Amino acid sequence: MTAAAVVTARESGLIACTTCGKVWSPEAEICGHCETPLITRPAQGLSPVWAWLVAGILLYIPANMWPMLISRTLGREDASTILCGVVELTQLGSYGVAFIVFFASIVIPVAKFAAIAVLALAVRHEIAMSQTRLTHLYEVVEFIGRWSMIDIFVVATLAALVQLGFLASLAPGPAAACFALSVTFTMLSAKAFDTRLIWDRIGETK
Ligand SMILES: [Zn+2]
Repeated sequence: MTAAAVVTARESGLIACTTCGKVWSPEAEICGHCETPLITRPAQGLSPVWAWLVAGILLYIPANMWPMLISRTLGREDASTILCGVVELTQLGSYGVAFIVFFASIVIPVAKFAAIAVLALAVRHEIAMSQTRLTHLYEVVEFIGRWSMIDIFVVATLAALVQLGFLASLAPGPAAACFALSVTFTMLSAKAFDTRLIWDRIGETK
């Protein structure tokens, strides 16, 4: 897409709503369509994006090192981390569940950290990528966000199933809380990213 083919709201002296995308004159203070306060660009720039992202990554470490699932069978306590859980599920022949847990707790979070970092670096020209591709990348981040908690869901389901009449008792370990917080912080990081920054690059020399 060439710079000449696109006119942004900012270039036209208008201000776009971050929620619904409708454009307003610069005097407007709230969006007349969805009542979101209109701000031209966040004053703090990308700092909240990086702050939430770093918090999310830091919590992802104990989420993988600490036990996700604690089982007690006749006084014996067994704690397993996410990866141990995946291995155990595979050994039990539960390939489907093992795949879901692996995908939801390793593939999705890591891909999301990388995607947000790429977006934040790209709007600062650290990475060269087209506006269209960056917008698609953001859409993917938004889309997978809602599926990130599936791992917690799997743990909860497993715990409920085991509680139903077995000798063992199963409880989520400390990693479950870290994982949930990591997912939440990563979601806040994506939310703090102002997608309009992608389009501000149009017309710039680089
Ligand atoms: Zn709006």
